[in-house]
Amino acid sequence: MAYTILRSGRLLDIAAGTAEFADILIEDDTIREIGAPGCPAPAEAIEISAARRLLHPGLVNAHTHGHGNLAKGMGDRWTLELLLSAAPWITGNRTAEDKYLSTQLGAVEMVMKGCTACYDLSFDWPAPTHDGLARVGKAYADVGMRAVVAPMVADRSFYEAIPGLLDALPSSLKEQVAELRLAPAEMTLAAIRTALRDWPFDRDQVRPAVAPTIPHHCSDAFILGCAALAREFDVGLHSHVAESKVQAVSGIRLYGRTQTAHLDRLGVLGPHFTVAHGVWLDEEDMARLGDHGASVAHNPGSNMRLGSGLADTRAMLERRVNVGIGTDGANCADNQNMYEAMRLASFVSKVQGPDWRRWLSTREAALAATEGSARALGIGDRIGRLAPSYKADIVMLDLDHPNWLPLNDPVNQLVHTEDGTAVASVMIGGRLIVDNRKLLTVDFDRLRDRVAAARERLAAANADNRRLYEALEPVVGSYCPGLARTPYHVHRYGARLE
Ligand SMILES: [Zn+2]
Repeated sequence: MAYTILRSGRLLDIAAGTAEFADILIEDDTIREIGAPGCPAPAEAIEISAARRLLHPGLVNAHTHGHGNLAKGMGDRWTLELLLSAAPWITGNRTAEDKYLSTQLGAVEMVMKGCTACYDLSFDWPAPTHDGLARVGKAYADVGMRAVVAPMVADRSFYEAIPGLLDALPSSLKEQVAELRLAPAEMTLAAIRTALRDWPFDRDQVRPAVAPTIPHHCSDAFILGCAALAREFDVGLHSHVAESKVQAVSGIRLYGRTQTAHLDRLGVLGPHFTVAHGVWLDEEDMARLGDHGASVAHNPGSNMRLGSGLADTRAMLERRVNVGIGTDGANCADNQNMYEAMRLASFVSKVQGPDWRRWLSTREAALAATEGSARALGIGDRIGRLAPSYKADIVMLDLDHPNWLPLNDPVNQLVHTEDGTAVASVMIGGRLIVDNRKLLTVDFDRLRDRVAAARERLAAANADNRRLYEALEPVVGSYCPGLARTPYHVHRYGARLE
């Protein structure tokens, strides 16, 4: 048994809105006791001073893509559909080393910005492999971060999934995108089964899940196959649902009902199910998710960057949907800053109507980024709170940083002022990962050099894919906004908007 005691810090209680002085006794990786300053501790306990520090539960990123980190800043005016068209260019030709590096780079950014756990939907083409997923898992384990790693899978390409898109392409492009076809469903499902069965990591730290990427990119049989595997191995299911209006309209065209109504009919909703985004959910969709105890991972930064729209988190909370907050991948967001994501979640709620009583409070945003996200990851009973029997995933903010001078209201300042620059130290499972702004687990200079080399190699390897994107952009970029002009009714504040 190893004991650590954090002394003299101010413990943030998000629900109460207070930051009282308290000592935290940690046994191995778990918080054993929270006591008054100077409380007794075992003689062998290692003492860490948290004087002038605000202690908050590690932020939990409910939706990201580790493969996106080498592609940050590669696009600007991209809709979701243009981003998907750019995927072969910005994430193509990855080696096993690249998968590790990209994921590790994101993990490093997250921990240095106060995030201690994430849900990573990891993509590999044409199908996931056990080795590829093991590299991704190892990237998190080497940083010392907690993660849920879900292979992001489909059995239809983007071009096969959007109604009418293939027909809109000239024949030369049609031939080229035919080569982007994914592996057959049976092969992908078999690869997931192997990964779930032979998972090589301590599941407390890095656990698997399954992510049928977007409902209409998957045949029903494939979605049911993913759901059956998730049930058999008791892991989460995560899917991008109602993210863009093109998706929402495509769902109606294909299913004759919303994506969420279709998933409900298939019987795959439940407490283990996470909807990423949910921008275009209607009230019935939200009620379905709430009734099933499902989660939404709200990604306000990505939703604005891709012009997807503004998700209505108040309406979700009213229907008992569990709301978590995520950054989404760096290829569409373009950072991994959960403080920014919380702040944007608060702001996005506030621009949707004049009735301030419907706005998300900072307390609600902070709870979503901790307890809500933790529940979406399936480990809400172990992380997301600083309390006895919870994991010691603790962020220590520097109260002498300008962000905290003066200290007026700890929760308002956590959500609206903090931007990650006051993060002094980060502990995950009782282990210091960042100590006074120094990352202890990764040789950062070596990571930097490897990332630079990978970037150069990938730019050359994906030159043809870039040219393909440039040829696709005018077609996808006009066809999809056309599809998005289809009238689509979403209830908002009791009104029907088009
Ligand atoms: Zn995503």
